[in-house]
Amino acid sequence: MKDSKKDYQKILSSVQKSVIGEAGKTGSWSKLKPIINVEKCIPARSGKPSCFTCWLYCPEAVIERIIPPKIDFNYCKGCAICMEECPVKAITMEEVELE
Ligand code: SF4
Ligand code: SF4
Repeated sequence: MKDSKKDYQKILSSVQKSVIGEAGKTGSWSKLKPIINVEKCIPARSGKPSCFTCWLYCPEAVIERIIPPKIDFNYCKGCAICMEECPVKAITMEEVELE
């Protein structure tokens, strides 16, 4: 039987790719960055590839769909959409000194 879920995930991952845009490292636009609490994050807690709502909603596609999810602060604009959408409130926006 055809595994449609896997195909669906393949399509999503193919459209969600992080790329360097015209404005360069847009991470410098905001010092507030999303910090993931791995005690609350669903895939981090379960060790299973589930949820990834933050990855799906990030308009900059800077969240990697791995366990735990990894955020590229070089291109994260600090919009906090991931924090708003996280179903278990595992993300908080904190001030981060960028390199
Ligand atoms: S949305 Fe929240 S719980 Fe889901 S993967 Fe992202 S940080 Fe983890
Ligand atoms: S704060 Fe905005 S740009 Fe940064 S990871 Fe979250 S959704 Fe993406």
